Amino acid sequence: MNSTSDILIIGGGVVGLSIAIELKLRGAAVTVLSRDFQEAASHAAAGMLAPSAESIADAPMRELCLRSLRLYPDWISKLESLTDRSTGYWACGILAPVTATPDPQNLPVLDSLPAHWLDRSAIHLAQPGFGSEVIGGWWYPEEGQVDNRALAKTLRSVAEAIGVEIQEGVAVTEIVQQQGQVVKLRSNLGDRSAGHYVLATGAWSQSVIPVPVQPCKGQMLAVQVPSSVSPLPLQRVLYGEHVYIVPRQDGRIVIGATSETIGFTPGNTPAGLQTLLNAAIRLYPTLKDFPIQECWWGFRPATPDERPILGDSLCDNLTLATGHFRNGILLTPITARLLADRIWNQAIDPLLNEFSWQRFLHPSNARLSHDIASTAAPPPPTPPPTQPSMLQFSTPQIPQPLPTPTFADEPLIIAGREFRSRLMTGTGKYRNVAEMQGSIASSGCEIVTVAVRRVQTNAPGHEGLAEAIDWQKIWMLPNTAGCQTAEDAIRVARLGREMAKLLGQEDNHFVKLEVIPDSQYLLPDPIGTLEAAEQLVKEGFAVLPYINADPLLAKRLEDIGCATVMPLGSPIGSGQGIRNTANIQIIIENANIPVVVDAGIGTPSEAAQAMEMGADALLINTAIAQAENPPLMAQAMRFGAEAGRMAYLAGRIPVKAFASASSPLSGRITE
Ligand SMILES: Cc1cc2nc3c(=O)[nH]c(=O)nc-3n(C[C@H](O)[C@H](O)[C@H](O)COP(=O)(O)OP(=O)(O)OC[C@H]3O[C@@H](n4cnc5c(N)ncnc54)[C@H](O)[C@@H]3O)c2cc1C
Repeated sequence: MNSTSDILIIGGGVVGLSIAIELKLRGAAVTVLSRDFQEAASHAAAGMLAPSAESIADAPMRELCLRSLRLYPDWISKLESLTDRSTGYWACGILAPVTATPDPQNLPVLDSLPAHWLDRSAIHLAQPGFGSEVIGGWWYPEEGQVDNRALAKTLRSVAEAIGVEIQEGVAVTEIVQQQGQVVKLRSNLGDRSAGHYVLATGAWSQSVIPVPVQPCKGQMLAVQVPSSVSPLPLQRVLYGEHVYIVPRQDGRIVIGATSETIGFTPGNTPAGLQTLLNAAIRLYPTLKDFPIQECWWGFRPATPDERPILGDSLCDNLTLATGHFRNGILLTPITARLLADRIWNQAIDPLLNEFSWQRFLHPSNARLSHDIASTAAPPPPTPPPTQPSMLQFSTPQIPQPLPTPTFADEPLIIAGREFRSRLMTGTGKYRNVAEMQGSIASSGCEIVTVAVRRVQTNAPGHEGLAEAIDWQKIWMLPNTAGCQTAEDAIRVARLGREMAKLLGQEDNHFVKLEVIPDSQYLLPDPIGTLEAAEQLVKEGFAVLPYINADPLLAKRLEDIGCATVMPLGSPIGSGQGIRNTANIQIIIENANIPVVVDAGIGTPSEAAQAMEMGADALLINTAIAQAENPPLMAQAMRFGAEAGRMAYLAGRIPVKAFASASSPLSGRITE
């Protein structure tokens, strides 16, 4: 890369900013696109620099952490010399008290970082004020902390001072790729392009590209040592078994953190804070009278093996810098250095290979988790062994960045609104929110149907749905599932419109109309559907009626102004595939509105079959949600739908009764 090239970095947390600074100092022109500086995990963290206290034993990860820890003093001096800000870096050491004799299997890793065992009297002497349960602990003199908020602000001000352009409020919505190259980024504020791109979007990475990064929520709080208490009672980090306590030099004491796999659900909860406070007061009772200063939460970018994803991607000019999970503040300097070397100097440190996304192509990565104050849902069950394949990932299995689409298709237009994806999905029947989020992301869908009634009643799996999906990116299709009569469906459709408005989709008048009186076969009532559709069209709804594959009914619904028709392939959730091919074919041939095949599709080959017939789109829910690995099935369905669509556009060969030789018969050598 030469100095006239420019680089776009997506994400302005500590990782994105530090890479930007490193590249700028080497001569690159760098722009950072930042959706929201304040939402970054970088602001929410505790700022511990704690590879031993965190018990990081995984060899490549430990090496990365140690190298980063060693870079810290010089890196901080360099940053602080470029601005007048302080980062609050403090090599204060970390004490890790325990309440039971350590398991000999579980002793600290003995390498270049010193670790000293302190018995009961030594630890109480070293740190007065511990609770009586503390029987000893480890002292890590070379670990410490940085004030992560001050660090983030310092990085930003250094970046601005040296000429990095920071565009705040820019949300990248899509990375457009062609033949192994990123050609541009789409964003809420228009397209952006550059010579090279860096993805540093933390926990939100999956909304831009399907990498296996999931949010892991952490709640925190801080108390303030009163000014009357002097000197400050804590002068080092306490890393307890269920809580950590991080004293800043200004008397603030940070207490953390919960570890919750509940998607992007915002807010502090009484249960979360209670867990932290109980554990903190037991460990260090002196805290109990200090005034609470602040509570907050953030989202760690978690990967299945708890290592970050650094370096290559499927595109030559896209570098990945995400998934730093619990140690992103610690890993910032080494991330910036190794990735700047790679991007600017084409120098690839061998250690980077251990952090490539390609490791998820092999099923060897075990899931480790040792979170403090964990209120996480249990991890999803490990799927039964299957035949290894190129697309097999470790648990949780989330598909990888997709290859470049090789065909340009016209958009799917429904009620004047354009969509690029022809696969719609739903939210029902998933085992947990994370699987639903992963599936929606890897299906590439832009329309997700939501049962208004189930959201209203907070039915299992529908709690927190509003927060779990990015409704700025996904178009909501409220459905009237559970309605047995036309009147009922009309009422629920109106509620659905209000629900969409509440989620910021003011102009969303879509409704998937379902009138289903029969609970055994779940077959739609044609007369009730027609009546409800007539009324809803009059009220300005874009009606997408779910119907049996009846060509006459489909035509009537089109005539009264429905936006699509949605014939079922076979009964809902049955996975029987397309049992009424001839009727669906007639509907497709006669329709002037999109035909969306809904219900019954069980496999990607059936998705392809419906699209090969000329269906405009598909709606698939159960076959994805109930698969052993929903995100992987979602991606397979995406491929199935795309393959079928391509085949339809390409035009299949006619079926012949007799063989037809592949080689030409003319020009043969004859005797
Ligand atoms: C409670 C908690 C405690 C922690 N404690 C520690 C600790 O003690 N020590 C430690 O080392 N680490 C800790 N961490 C982890 C650390 O905070 C993260 O690993 C690190 O901040 C990740 O940095 P990042 O820059 O990759 O992501 P973030 O800081 O999350 O920044 C990502 C940025 O990308 C932006 N973005 C996202 N999507 C888009 C888009 N589409 N377009 C444009 N911009 C986008 C976001 O707005 C955000 O500003 C903690 C994390 C939490 C939540």
